[in-house]
Amino acid sequence: MENCIFCKIIKGEIPSKKIYEDDKVIAFHDISPAAPVHVLVIPKEHIESANYITQENSKVIAHIFQVINKIVEELNISQGGYRIVNNCGNDGGQTVNHLHFHVLGGRELQWPPG
Ligand code: 5GP
Ligand code: ZN
Repeated sequence: MENCIFCKIIKGEIPSKKIYEDDKVIAFHDISPAAPVHVLVIPKEHIESANYITQENSKVIAHIFQVINKIVEELNISQGGYRIVNNCGNDGGQTVNHLHFHVLGGRELQWPPG
């Protein structure tokens, strides 16, 4: 998708600190971390938001959660705990319109969010 920051990161047109990649997803460090560990996991397919998950494209969601399992082990936060976040739409605080899951950890996180 043209003018999508995350599609550009996938294509390597914008640099990122990538920590995982396969044919379906990539994971990289958030540019503006909200916790000691803050990683984004995204499908390579441009899906605008959680609103656009369908029967046809939803397999990648299960895959993303399996990838997250691997990542949290490698980043050493699996035992301490972590939070997986998806912001959807304006009220959800979504700023990049390419489906992504935040993985936050490395400190005790507050709940509920503001
Ligand atoms: P959202 O608010 O849409 O849920 O999250 C978007 C996230 O993408 C934010 O946490 C923001 O810091 C991150 N982000 C935006 N632009 C870039 C970028 O160019 N590179 C990286 N690594 N992260 C980005
Ligand atoms: Zn995109």
